[in-house]
Amino acid sequence: MTEATRSIVVRAGLLADGSGRALQSDMSVWIEDDRIHAVGPAAAIEAAAPPDAQRIDLGAACLAPGLIDGHTHLSLAGDGRPYTEMFSETDEMMVLTGALNLQRHLSAGITTIREHGARNRVGFTLKEGLGRGYIPGPRMLVSGRPITCTGGHFHMCNETADGEEEIRRSVRRLVHEGADYIKIMASGGGTAGTDPTRASYSVAELHAAVHEAHHFHRLTAAHCRAKQSMVRAVEAGVDLMEHAEFLEPDGNLHFDPDLAEKMAETGIWISPTLQAWCQWPRVVFLRQRRDVGDASADELRRLEALEQRARGRLDVMRRMLDICGKERIVPGTDSGVNDLAFGHLDYDLQLLVEVGFTPAEALASATRISAEAIGMENDVGTLQVGRIADLVAFAGDPTKDINAVSNVVAVFQAGQRVLCSSATALSS
Ligand SMILES: [Zn+2]
Repeated sequence: MTEATRSIVVRAGLLADGSGRALQSDMSVWIEDDRIHAVGPAAAIEAAAPPDAQRIDLGAACLAPGLIDGHTHLSLAGDGRPYTEMFSETDEMMVLTGALNLQRHLSAGITTIREHGARNRVGFTLKEGLGRGYIPGPRMLVSGRPITCTGGHFHMCNETADGEEEIRRSVRRLVHEGADYIKIMASGGGTAGTDPTRASYSVAELHAAVHEAHHFHRLTAAHCRAKQSMVRAVEAGVDLMEHAEFLEPDGNLHFDPDLAEKMAETGIWISPTLQAWCQWPRVVFLRQRRDVGDASADELRRLEALEQRARGRLDVMRRMLDICGKERIVPGTDSGVNDLAFGHLDYDLQLLVEVGFTPAEALASATRISAEAIGMENDVGTLQVGRIADLVAFAGDPTKDINAVSNVVAVFQAGQRVLCSSATALSS
């Protein structure tokens, strides 16, 4: 005998199904085990669902597809310490850090993530623990370790490769160990001794990674802060470009319309990691201090400098959008590094609205569009029959006011309700 089907009917005052259709009111999602069985007007679903189905009424809340964060570093605490200190932790402590971070993200309505690179087997171990049900967390796609050149950004993770041959070997090794996609560092970054304004790999090296990854049906993501690395990543056929800052060797951001045209032509996915560049958690914190009159003169000066820095980045982003459009933009938090704590994809969505997305478009970028970018559009990203039942409910309408995304009232992952009352405390 097979186990009985578990039926749940979740009703909510509003529903944004992620398909781009207008918001619908008084709707229900009927879940059978881990999948969506039906979506429709509450009364119709009520009449059709089995009488013994569990019924959950979320009142006036707005139901949406679970959010997707395309860029996380689970093993890092995001507590403001420099890389050298964070990487002085043991692998065991990094796994524990990851377990806490997974919970924080899930509580914030994020039900799927890409883990963008950890040391040794930490990323793989976290995914395995999640799969065994030892720890709660968003569904993970893992890169395992990021591929980097000798002494390159994140070389501490121990997947160094120079030259096409070594890069091919790295891709094969990672795929063998269980990598769902390949992350490669195409420029320097925040790691001491690396230069974020210069490319780390040649086009031929990047192409070797892409070619080998695609051979194994794996997508590629390249860390590209330097403009030079962006040019090379496009040329090499990388699937997704991280950061895309247009950073020049003089240390400044110089938007390049010709490069943006090429990005638009190839349709490369772009993850601008806006909160990371803008140091947004810091800005939010300092603004709060200012608004209650607690900020010191020093803090006010710091805030002003950060806001100016953010304006420069957001200006580059706006000009890029004019050419590349909004349909290939994938939000990512870069959580874990610096003081980017887990649980705040909302910051990136707020910043997308700041650069011209409507709130509905920002929500679509973190759901339907992100699902396409990571190759999971048949499973997640929309509330449609047959999709995995990943749902998040917000107090308020996120298609009118994106700040509603910060106000999560319920989370369902694969048909299981996961949000507990302590969640808001955890994610703050
Ligand atoms: Zn990163």
